[in-house]
Amino acid sequence: MGLDAPTGSLQTTDETVAEPESTTETRAGTEPESIALEARDLDVYYGDDQALQSIDMEIPEGEVTALIGPSGCGKSTFLRCINRMNDLIDIARVDGDLHFNGKNVYDDDVDPVALRRKIGMVFQKPNPFPKSIRDNVAFGLRVQGRDENVDAKVEQALERAALLEEVEDQLDSSGLDLSGGQQQRLCIARAIAPDPEVLLMDEPASALDPIATAKIEELIEELSEEYTVVVVTHNMQQAARISDKTAVFLTGGELVEFDDTEKIFENPEHDRVEDYITGKFG
Ligand code: ADP
Repeated sequence: MGLDAPTGSLQTTDETVAEPESTTETRAGTEPESIALEARDLDVYYGDDQALQSIDMEIPEGEVTALIGPSGCGKSTFLRCINRMNDLIDIARVDGDLHFNGKNVYDDDVDPVALRRKIGMVFQKPNPFPKSIRDNVAFGLRVQGRDENVDAKVEQALERAALLEEVEDQLDSSGLDLSGGQQQRLCIARAIAPDPEVLLMDEPASALDPIATAKIEELIEELSEEYTVVVVTHNMQQAARISDKTAVFLTGGELVEFDDTEKIFENPEHDRVEDYITGKFG
């Protein structure tokens, strides 16, 4: 990963730094694969209702991992666990561990705001702020007090989000004047400007037309050269096109199978996954 920020560290409230602890062999058994995120026995409840059941998953660094499954099976809930966005839902409760670079993000000494600097998020509906394109992208940098060379960083983020060419003459125009697809790429630029390590995307193309969707898909593949990307999609073809690994969640908040995307789509282990993939249910 080509990040300026040191990888393998998670800033916490007491400034402790965690080192990466786990690696795993690739399926070919040759090169070790670094693990960016690891869920261990993770349960999530909303009030008395359990949304995720005992999830164990190792998400490799620098790849695209897709979360698929029928509506209501817990994909967004899992995504929101990763950067503790579920903290913002009063009735949500999380049990178990979610490790990021070897440190449990649910440890008492982890500052969720610091965590979200390392783990950015893009939502289903493009949500630019009612500000200029420049100020949208600069937002996170300014909040962090990283005011030096903001213009250069804004341009770099727009370039990485494949938007610079289309907007370079209108950086002071409102972000809200862009098309839906451009707005989503603006939100991606805003998420990556502070140089996170992980990018979470919740159905990032489902509100877009086919051309804008194709651009976002292409962009996701490019982004995985620099970031670990975890993307929720209800579109199986999209998961097959863009991801390296696929996690299949099924009703009841169960992670039924997690493997290389090719294996999931061509030869899944579980009949229930095959039935879902082939459209027999879901
Ligand atoms: P998916 O992303 O797969 O559609 P979700 O993670 O959104 O699934 O939802 C999983 C379950 O948790 C569903 O039963 C849903 O109704 C419930 N749920 C999600 N968000 C909330 C919330 N904020 N409050 C209460 N229940 C919720």
